Formats: sequence, C-alpha cells, structure tokens
Amino acid sequence: MKIETLAVHAGHNIDPGTGAVSSPIHLSTTFERDAEGTYSRGFMYARNNNPNRQALEQGISALEGGAAAAAFASGTGASMSIFQALAPGDHVLAHVDAYYGTSRLLREIFRRWGLDISFVDMSDLSAVEKALRAKTKVAWMETPSNPLLKIVDLAAIAQIVHGAGAICVCDNTWAPTVQRPFDQGADLILHSTTKYFGGHCDVLGGIVVTKVEDDFFQRIRSIQYEGGAVPSPFDCWLILRGMRTLPWRMRAHSENAMKVARFLARHPRVTQVHYPGLESHPGHKIARKQMSMFGGMLSFEVNDGRDAAMAAAAKAKIFTRATSLGGVESLIEHRASIEGPGTTSPEGLLRLSIGLENADDLIEDLDQALM
Ligand code: PLP
Repeated sequence: MKIETLAVHAGHNIDPGTGAVSSPIHLSTTFERDAEGTYSRGFMYARNNNPNRQALEQGISALEGGAAAAAFASGTGASMSIFQALAPGDHVLAHVDAYYGTSRLLREIFRRWGLDISFVDMSDLSAVEKALRAKTKVAWMETPSNPLLKIVDLAAIAQIVHGAGAICVCDNTWAPTVQRPFDQGADLILHSTTKYFGGHCDVLGGIVVTKVEDDFFQRIRSIQYEGGAVPSPFDCWLILRGMRTLPWRMRAHSENAMKVARFLARHPRVTQVHYPGLESHPGHKIARKQMSMFGGMLSFEVNDGRDAAMAAAAKAKIFTRATSLGGVESLIEHRASIEGPGTTSPEGLLRLSIGLENADDLIEDLDQALM
C-alpha cells in the first residue's frame, strides 16, 4: 500500500460489536479474565496495553515500515525510554543541533545517571567517526534539526555508526512521511506525536518505532509499561485520527513552506533563510536524496538582531506567537528567548511552523511584520 492509503487504514478496523466506522475509545483500565484464568482477548490492565494504544502503535509502525512501536505520554517520554534502556557507562553520541529539550535531558539527567554523552556536528562525517568510542551504544540523529534546519546524511551516518557496533536513532518529528529513516539505515525512529501526527495542537504524545523486535526494543517496551509514562486512550485515539490525514497535510505544509522560504530569501531585511528546500541551503543535495518534500518548518534571521526579531514577531497577525509546531495554524517564535541561558540560537532568528492557511496570506503577514 502507498503511504496515503496506509495512513487512512493502518490501525483502523470496523468495530466488530457495532459496525462503527470510527473506532471506539476504550476507557476501561481493566479487562475481564477468562474463567480458566487467561486473557484470551489480549488485554489485562490498561498501563500494560489497551486497544487504543495498540491500534496507534500498529498504525504508526506500519506507516514507518517498522516491526513494532511503543507509545508514550510525550515525545520526551519516548526519548527517555531509549536512554533508560542503556546501562551506566554506555556512550551516547548526539547531534549538536538536536532538539534543545533532548540535549538538556542528556546533559542534566542522564549524565547524572552515568551515561557518557558527547555532542558532535553530524553534518561532518569525519567528526562522527572520530567521536565514536568502544562503548558507543546509540547515535542520536535529528534531521532537519531545530532551529537551524541542518541536514544530516542519514545513510552515511548509519553506515559509520553500524561499523562501530552502535545503533542509530532518528528523531523524525519534523519530517513524518516525507522522510523514511528506516530506508536510510536507522534502527529506531522517534516521533513527538504532539506535532505533525496530532496535527492540531491539542494532544501530547511520543512514540518509538523499531525496525526489528530485538532485546533493546524489549527493554523499551518494559520501560513503557513498568515505568508507566503512557498516553491515555483518548490521546491515542486523537493521534491515530491525526495520522489519517498526515501525508496530505505534510504535502500542503511543505508546499506552503517552500513559497514562504522563497519570499523570505528575497526580502531585504532578511539576512539568512534556513530551509532545506532552497537550493542555497548547504544540506539541500542531501535533503533531496533522503526527503520527498522538505517539511513545514523553517527559520530565518533578520538584520539588527534580537530587538528587530522580537518586533517582527509582535507585529504578526496571522502567525501566532507560540512555541511547538506541526498544527494547522502557523506559529512564529523567537527561539533564543524560549530556550534561555545556554541557547545557541542566533538572537536575530525567528522560527516558523508553517500551517495550512493560504501561503499568500502568510507572505502578506510576514511582509507587513518586517516593515
Ligand atoms: N523532538 C523534537 C524534534 C521536538 O521538536 C520536540 C518538541 O518540540 C520533542 C522531540 C519533544 O516532544 P514533546 O514536547 O512531545 O515532549
């Protein structure tokens, strides 16, 4: 099946009891045991598993071409499970431009737990080679990255990392359906389903998808139900509902973002546009190799730094000043002030999550905001 068909049908069944076309939400926390003591219908207690979470995991796993998936209450909860599956002394190599929350998690929580962590610019393959150690267990890739939209060559990194006996995780939050990390050699895919999967800024979630059901994934699975950071049945239902329109939304987000990026690239007050769809982007060639479209996220820098960037965000009328991404409405954000001390985001940078409005309206709004 092609991706649009999978998105509509994977994880969805007509309800056998009622014929309902939209799946019911099973709120029950506990499930009936058979007279002889077994659970022949497959469910015992909702933290371990429940029908809505199972449908979500099967749906996203099928969409990514994986073997199985474990859903969590947030993207960060899903990332935690991967690091918690490691042992003290294990080495994690992470992309220097990974999501700020992921690098903070590694620096502030997992270093104290005994993980050895280093950050490297993964767009530099020789730097990745040099940074690998005998105890490297996980390489954490994120592409396009946040907020500079740097591109990492997934296939090249996977080859280097596998050569050292480690596994590759790809945070694919920014590019679901338009980037297929398993085809490029990734072993695990992470999504904050809060973003494009949910698609409407109304549900938190995260998921780890595995290419093969191995021991490492079994550890993630047990962290899921023994640790208990699980999504509610309603959250699972919302995210699976979001998935049904995801390929078409990603197409429209990408088309709009390309138009906005081209407009900004010509604007006299803009010094730089970070969007991998632009031929001028340093990662454009690699992005073309591993992405079918370039997604809905972009950032740009204005001349005159922080004050000018804040003033432009303040004048936006259609764009909402808010963090996060992946919803139907366009958002504008001054990243440096959101990330706070230690940020590496340029002071004049504004990040845009391009929504599903008409691109001409978005361009007009940015044009008046940049006056
Ligand atoms: N990964 C990326 C790329 C993100 O942008 C985010 C959140 O912005 C996360 C992970 C964390 O997801 P959540 O906010 O659902 O915990």
